Amino acid sequence: MAAAVQAQVCVVGGGPAGLTLALELARRSVSVVVVEQSGRFDRSFRGESISPDSVWLLERMGILKGLREQTLTTRRMEITDQGRVVLRADFADYDRACPFPMELPQPPLLEALAAQGAQLPGFRLLRRTTATALLREESTITGVRCKGPDGEFEIAAALTVAADGRFSKIREMSGLRYEKQPLERDFVWFKVPRPEVWDGHTYRVRIRGARHGLFIPTVPDLVRVGFNIPKGGLKELRAQGVGALHARMDELAPELSAQVRAAVTTWSDTSMLDIFTTVVPRWSRPGLVLIGDAAHTLTPVLGQGVNHAITDAAVLARLVAPALGAQDRAAALGRATRRFQQEREAPVARARALQLRQERAFALSAPLPVLLRRCAYRLVNASAPLKRRILAGIYYPLQDADRIRPFDVAPVPSTPAGV
Ligand SMILES: Cc1cc2nc3c(=O)[nH]c(=O)nc-3n(C[C@H](O)[C@H](O)[C@H](O)COP(=O)(O)OP(=O)(O)OC[C@H]3O[C@@H](n4cnc5c(N)ncnc54)[C@H](O)[C@@H]3O)c2cc1C
Repeated sequence: MAAAVQAQVCVVGGGPAGLTLALELARRSVSVVVVEQSGRFDRSFRGESISPDSVWLLERMGILKGLREQTLTTRRMEITDQGRVVLRADFADYDRACPFPMELPQPPLLEALAAQGAQLPGFRLLRRTTATALLREESTITGVRCKGPDGEFEIAAALTVAADGRFSKIREMSGLRYEKQPLERDFVWFKVPRPEVWDGHTYRVRIRGARHGLFIPTVPDLVRVGFNIPKGGLKELRAQGVGALHARMDELAPELSAQVRAAVTTWSDTSMLDIFTTVVPRWSRPGLVLIGDAAHTLTPVLGQGVNHAITDAAVLARLVAPALGAQDRAAALGRATRRFQQEREAPVARARALQLRQERAFALSAPLPVLLRRCAYRLVNASAPLKRRILAGIYYPLQDADRIRPFDVAPVPSTPAGV
């Protein structure tokens, strides 16, 4: 089968990682084709919390212009354990260019990235197109075979990027080893109208014994609610009827009782997230690199999945664009993709470690460990320097590093698309 499409880079997956990468590459005059199996971006219950560093990147990329009405700024975080507030953080206290996390549903974000890309000659997005196999020449990946609305075809590319998410088929086909680490609990998500007694800018974590819930204000005047269930326990919970969910909410957030009863009348109003993390020792092989969830699936704690997907994309584009023009292109791409992993592995590992520590703390149930957990949160809360260090490490590493070594994003075209 002849290669019907040629590009310098082929990206599999039009999520936050894939589309940010494609836009950043096209702005650096690289020809890039994105294949996305879905025809539309209207996916629900995906990462919507954008960490401050990614807000900063998207701002510099000119993506947030025109999206303001679809975003909501998180100003505070509050953790409550056994009904008492044990930790409070006000993001205004952090002196950074972009101190606040933001809630931005994925559909408008992805539409904006795609619309900006569509203005550039090197950018091509093929929707309703699934990558079904990898093309190889000896041990080098040379592109993908795809199935689109008009049948099968091949895409030849100097670099193929797996941005196909937490269940990455490309990672599977590539032979790159990975280890999936299931966590002890899964998560159920739903959205309800925000009660009047809650302001629209506080990210709430409520813990009671071994149960916890995340309550994240989002647009328009809603709260995105996630709560833990035992691993694989959804079937059993569903068998108890939706009343079991209502009771769980009464326990964690009585302010929401009326809203939950009105908005969640069957379990199909909810979405289940199987929580696991994936550790991939090598993120690349000749001709191929993994980014975003395909390289490092994270958990929902502190909303880091989209953040690391977007940061991966910005770093990879900066490293790969010059390598594509090098005389020893294959070797230069190999160096660029290895360097990419070197730069990104440590921040991802730090986020994962903090998430796992939190997850373990949330799962404690015996009285003494629960008491110690409360004391630990209070200790952090009472020490401003400690709290700052922990939060800055997760929310501002890019902005802090930029003060020492400026972080490049591709120049924004002077007449950006009106999105
Ligand atoms: C319920 C839920 C809630 C979450 N909440 C948060 C949150 O609040 N904050 C946060 O930061 N993160 C959250 N996450 C995680 C976040 O959604 C992901 O980390 C983020 O979307 C990863 O981006 P990505 O581009 O790597 O992958 P994805 O967003 O998964 O995108 C992968 C894309 O690849 C496409 N694809 C897959 N296979 C193929 C193929 N063979 N051919 C073509 N296309 C393909 C898919 O259709 C998809 O569009 C949540 C995830 C879930 C599921």
